[in-house]
Amino acid sequence: MRSTAALRLRNLVSSRAHRYKLVAIRPRRYSTRRPHILTGLRPSIHPFSPLKNLDTLQPHTYRSKMSDTELDAAAAAEVYAAEALAGLQATLLNDTETQSRARELTQNIHEIKERMTAAAASATAASSKRSNEGPLLIAVSKLKPAIDILALHIDGQEHFGENYVQELSKKQPILPNTIHWHFIGSLQSSAISKLARLPNLYAVHSVDSAKKAVALNRLRPDNLPPVRVFIQVNTSGEDSKSGLAPSSEDLYTAVATIRKECPKLILEGLMTIGAIARSQAAKEGEENEDFITLVNVAEELEARIEKDDGEKVTLKLSMGMSDDFENAIALGADYVRVGSSIFGARPAKADATIL
Ligand SMILES: *Cc1c(COP(=O)(O)O)cnc(C)c1O
Repeated sequence: MRSTAALRLRNLVSSRAHRYKLVAIRPRRYSTRRPHILTGLRPSIHPFSPLKNLDTLQPHTYRSKMSDTELDAAAAAEVYAAEALAGLQATLLNDTETQSRARELTQNIHEIKERMTAAAASATAASSKRSNEGPLLIAVSKLKPAIDILALHIDGQEHFGENYVQELSKKQPILPNTIHWHFIGSLQSSAISKLARLPNLYAVHSVDSAKKAVALNRLRPDNLPPVRVFIQVNTSGEDSKSGLAPSSEDLYTAVATIRKECPKLILEGLMTIGAIARSQAAKEGEENEDFITLVNVAEELEARIEKDDGEKVTLKLSMGMSDDFENAIALGADYVRVGSSIFGARPAKADATIL
């Protein structure tokens, strides 16, 4: 017997048959003895479909050996997510104010990308350039509504950054699972379990202890892909900033622990936020000391890994925000995290509308 929620999902899909093709998806690891009650929404190939660029929206909450109650709850969550996404799409299709907001956002992001390309081109000449791949833009969407994210994702932006686990876990289920989520906020031990269970969590930039890395590794479900991690380094030494001290033993312990004891994590590199004063000085043409420190720390660690393990690794650098991403790219940033220059000023947390 199909659950009510599963039937509602099926009805929802068929009521939108003009826009979606109904496809049956057998979730990975889903018991073969159970009927395939689940469906996915595949964007239609209609050229004006706002989702024409997106992959199939797949159910991601299912596990093998679920009880009927669990299956029902999972199907209900799926219905909620599908309805919410359909609602966002309808708004994008029909509401002129939302459309002009979407145009503004895409224009902003294209301007940032042009500035990134220019900064990367001038950095290639500089001897400081560490990486050959172009820097990657993470659009920092914290405290901004899900529809802003959908508008940019439809335009082709894949990587989004969030600072609060609560907020991310509300946005994640209702947005396409083709989004690559980056967690960049301060990492609380109590929130790690919730974070670890997000299927399309791409990277965590704020790992600041070996212990938290071990917890993230332990709590990442086996059926989900590994998560890239950056160790946050407190390059400015400010008390207000999280992160491990440059050149500290704690930092190397975190590196070694992630490499040797955390098979569900990939050590991607190092992250810094840096001091506001240095970022402002850098706007006037000076180089940002925090970024230089992060480059030096990465080189030290790479040398030590090679000495200890005989392995040549390249640590990627997550550095640069709205005010200083060009300087960060000039110094070799692989990931820049840009928020307000794309989305505009952020509201106070209490006033934010995220859904
Ligand atoms: C908010 C935030 C950003 C984005 O900052 P903007 O100045 O709005 O670009 C980047 N990195 C981290 C860690 C953040 O918390």
